[in-house]
Amino acid sequence: MDVEEFRKYGKEVIDYICQYGTNIEERDVAPTLDPGYLKKLIPADAPQSPESFKDVLEDFEQKIMPGVVHWNHPKFFAYFPSGNSFPSVLGDMLSSAIGSIGFSWASCPAAAELETIVMNWYAKALGLPKAFVSDAPGSTGGGALQGSASECVLVSLITARARAISELKGQTSVHDSVFLPSLIAYASREAHSSVEKATKMALVKLRIIDADEHGRMRVDLLSQAIQNDVNAGLTPFFVVATVGTTGGCAFDDITEIGKVCRQVSSIWLHVDGAYAGNSFILPEMRVFSAGLEYADSFNTNPNKLLLTNFDASALWVRDVMNLKSALNVNPLYLRHEHMTGVDYRHYGIPLSRRFRALKLWFVFRTYGIRGLQEYIRNHMALAKKFEMLVRKDDRFEVRNDVHLGLVCFRMRTGDEPNHMLLAQINHSGKMHMTPAKFNGRYVIRFCVTYEHATEKDILEAWTQIKCFAEEILRDHQLESSSVPTTPESSERTSSEPVAPVAGKPPIKKRLTRTKSLRFSFTRSISREQYQSQSEHLMDGCTPILVVDPKTLQENFQKAADDNDRNNSNGNVKLKDISDVDTDEASN
Ligand code: PLP
Repeated sequence: MDVEEFRKYGKEVIDYICQYGTNIEERDVAPTLDPGYLKKLIPADAPQSPESFKDVLEDFEQKIMPGVVHWNHPKFFAYFPSGNSFPSVLGDMLSSAIGSIGFSWASCPAAAELETIVMNWYAKALGLPKAFVSDAPGSTGGGALQGSASECVLVSLITARARAISELKGQTSVHDSVFLPSLIAYASREAHSSVEKATKMALVKLRIIDADEHGRMRVDLLSQAIQNDVNAGLTPFFVVATVGTTGGCAFDDITEIGKVCRQVSSIWLHVDGAYAGNSFILPEMRVFSAGLEYADSFNTNPNKLLLTNFDASALWVRDVMNLKSALNVNPLYLRHEHMTGVDYRHYGIPLSRRFRALKLWFVFRTYGIRGLQEYIRNHMALAKKFEMLVRKDDRFEVRNDVHLGLVCFRMRTGDEPNHMLLAQINHSGKMHMTPAKFNGRYVIRFCVTYEHATEKDILEAWTQIKCFAEEILRDHQLESSSVPTTPESSERTSSEPVAPVAGKPPIKKRLTRTKSLRFSFTRSISREQYQSQSEHLMDGCTPILVVDPKTLQENFQKAADDNDRNNSNGNVKLKDISDVDTDEASN
């Protein structure tokens, strides 16, 4: 493509984006398709000869768009928002056009320096403790942009692991892996699954701490668990507190958790504020950030609640030297003459990094902190409006404390009708929501996500939800014996009527699509997940085999002898070191 074609098609694409945004309501919010739909429409091999860009764009509309879930649709109430805005998209376009790979100051000075400046703007806008602001007097901390909150959690955990092992090891020459089985992390059962994933990747244990009826980590249980583990010879090294849990947007008490963590020097406290951390831009929300001074690290996703398009996750640490010593590698080909500048390659997993600070800078400048505050306050007010509508209808209940943009609600029935309600709403393509298990109950999450959401969107959504619910409740009453009850629904209390539809006129027209129910986000993730029982101790280090050098030598010898014997039988088999018997090895 030459520059003139780029100019032509570039303008067409911008026009397309504008139209897409303006007319988005004409589209269904989510498709109803069967997996594999695209395979039937696109050849199995890339074209040998160039094709015209016009054809590519046409195919985009004909083949790709029908399979898109529109996260920026006014009727998208699922997950958390995928922050997006025109300034952010433009910043991202420029970042793509420049195409620099900013891993070090030398590889792109503007990317490195803007990242530092923007991370400090951001930290100050959220009112974070000065320790996280790299240009605050005496600060040893700072922040970096990462690809996702999961990455922020993993980077923090790996850094904490390195710090704990270094403390345990002292001046000895014992191998690091010897200490791995003793390391143990803690998170509430409401913490995001990325914590469990991080502990799996880092090969450490994770203890799940129960939450209270509001979905907040039980600090008394955390304290007890840490004490028990210390007594059992384990090393507590990482605690994750969450501000704005995924299931119910609950806020853990960071101050109380921080005090517990302070009692054990090896503990690193990480605070995950992927969604709600951004709300600290509002002074009235800072009641929930109290205690951040105890944290060693903190993350938020501007790509959730700060109008910045994916990907952009912010991670701040109290002492950047911890990051650097955990993640620093320094081959000759990456060295340069200005090594005193910030080299963000030491702050995360990948070497190559996009110029993400650009879009965040565009967002801060074009909205201003006041504009961003207004946007979040609007979401909060609309969530409150929705909560009020639900509470006024005694067929429904709200299960979470609504502090921000998320309302978790359900019909006052067993789980199955709620499950059906969500499945049918999502299959209509007119609205999209997701389920969660909050505080032991199946709930439907209604999250305000659209940048320009209005009261009209909320009222329309509520009207639709009620229509679907009435249909389900009516069917449920007619066929209640055929509806399978879950263990929870059979444990229903007397205050929860099964089908409170008496006196409601029947709905003549079915509201659901007649198409296949096979493809459903709701069906695919919820049923098994909400029923599964989580173990309270996840042992990520099970695959690790710690062997002392003498045993190792003996096992190698044994393997070699076995090998010789097998060879002499004409039967070649190399014994894998992982075949070694664990009991034998740990003796
Ligand atoms: N932490 C919390 C509280 C979340 O809600 C989420 C996702 O919704 C994550 C972490 C993971 O975010 P990411 O998709 O950026 O890895």
